[in-house]
Amino acid sequence: MVGKGSVKCSKCGIISKEDYSLTFHRFPLPSKYGSLKAKVWAKFCFPDGDWTSDESLEKLNAQHRMLCGHHFDDSSFTSSDRKRLNKFAIPSGAQSLLSQLRDEQYSPSRASHDIQEPSSLKSILMV
Ligand SMILES: [Zn+2]
Repeated sequence: MVGKGSVKCSKCGIISKEDYSLTFHRFPLPSKYGSLKAKVWAKFCFPDGDWTSDESLEKLNAQHRMLCGHHFDDSSFTSSDRKRLNKFAIPSGAQSLLSQLRDEQYSPSRASHDIQEPSSLKSILMV
């Protein structure tokens, strides 16, 4: 049971009061920077879900779904104190999901060997 005032990670199930140094990050809204980032978060946590509609993604945000800081690299945060995620942050290990979703989102004829380097993540998410 999650008591009032505590937050639970949707991926690993850790509760905020188990580790006060841990940060929790709310699922992004699909509209803000495009739906791709929100889809990667959703699919990372709930691989079997249907995340094709913005509504389904907005619902996760509305339900205050959270991911804990364990799922993000240092490079995903705005500073070394690891408190705030940058706006392009996706969970570490979700890079392949990003490539996969991006290919689905855009032309299917787009070459799948066009593997994205992490450094070009910003340009993908800004599309
Ligand atoms: Zn977690």
